[in-house]
Amino acid sequence: MAEKYLPYGRQIVDEEDIRAVADVLRSDWLTTGPMVERFEETVCRYVGAPYGVAVSSGNAALHAAMFALGVAPGDEVIVPAMTFAATANCVVYQGAKPVFADVDPATLLLEPDTVEALITPRTKAVIGVDYAGQPCDWEALRQVADRHGLALVADSCHALGATLRGRRVGSLADITCFSFHPVKHITTGEGGMAVTADGALARRMRLFRNHGISTSAAQREKAGEWFYEMTELGCNYRLTDIQCALGMSQMRKLETWLARRRELAALYGSLLASSREEPAARPLDIKPGVESAWHLYVIRHPQRDAVFRTMRARGIGVNVHYVPVHLHPYYREHWGTGPGLCPAAEAAYAEILTLPLWPGMEDRDVTHVVSLLRGNNIL
Ligand SMILES: *Cc1c(COP(=O)(O)O)cnc(C)c1O
Repeated sequence: MAEKYLPYGRQIVDEEDIRAVADVLRSDWLTTGPMVERFEETVCRYVGAPYGVAVSSGNAALHAAMFALGVAPGDEVIVPAMTFAATANCVVYQGAKPVFADVDPATLLLEPDTVEALITPRTKAVIGVDYAGQPCDWEALRQVADRHGLALVADSCHALGATLRGRRVGSLADITCFSFHPVKHITTGEGGMAVTADGALARRMRLFRNHGISTSAAQREKAGEWFYEMTELGCNYRLTDIQCALGMSQMRKLETWLARRRELAALYGSLLASSREEPAARPLDIKPGVESAWHLYVIRHPQRDAVFRTMRARGIGVNVHYVPVHLHPYYREHWGTGPGLCPAAEAAYAEILTLPLWPGMEDRDVTHVVSLLRGNNIL
């Protein structure tokens, strides 16, 4: 009998979510309506940030952050090599140069010392990535940023709900970006949010998501005005009320889902630790004082390609996160990057494998994956 395919991640959508979306479809506002602010407030309250700007993707949140900080041609922004391409692309959109930093081989996180060594007079900002859901050492990164007058941006697309020494991701950088793509912790189909404690940065991000126009259609209608001005070059990065309603409904389930992710990760950890047959599969380190949001469960394995093929052939949707960004053809051709620039990220890339992890999984799914890894299919 064919086994059911187990993806590495996927959304959970229930009847409550569907009702919330249907209610908006019957209402007056499909976009720029009341659900947008309500969703922003819900996420802000949860992450402990005063201002939230809902946008159409995590990529849009990063781009809005670069715009708001005034990143411009001639500037450099330090980004880790081990991340999704969007972390670096947002710098290029603003005409600035992404400077790729190597990562810690044990955690695949950006390290403060590595950042400090890459700072030049042109450096404007640093973007850290909470890889797999584990927060960077934002306190140490903050010290480096402050010493050199740099802005600190968190690409926390993996880390909604993670904490560092009891403080939640969302309150640790100047701007923190989240994604609501279906594989992430909550979904709006596509969607994202940039959160900040700085009202001026929030205003600039709101302007940017709305074509650079200073008032919204809803505000103008309320005020009985037609006049508007475009004061900056912006984009249409708005998130619809339909999506925000789904996001609000999903937020009610976030804590339960995070708890389940942590349980499943702990089960992987204990099974892999007790696995004598497969000592080759090593999970990444989790630092003390950190509570990961467990977006991904990543192991390193010296025979990664063979393991990948075997697992896929058995219906396990293992994946690789990520091809280091500086190895992508676009960056090689246009920015002169290539192998040797970030050796730890490149060595990790040859060995990393993402195992399935999402809150709808059963314990037996984890046992099954680990038993296949061991090579004796007992389930
Ligand atoms: C998902 C993700 C993004 C981009 O989010 P989208 O919503 O897909 O645009 C950016 N950075 C990281 C690290 C991500 O995982």
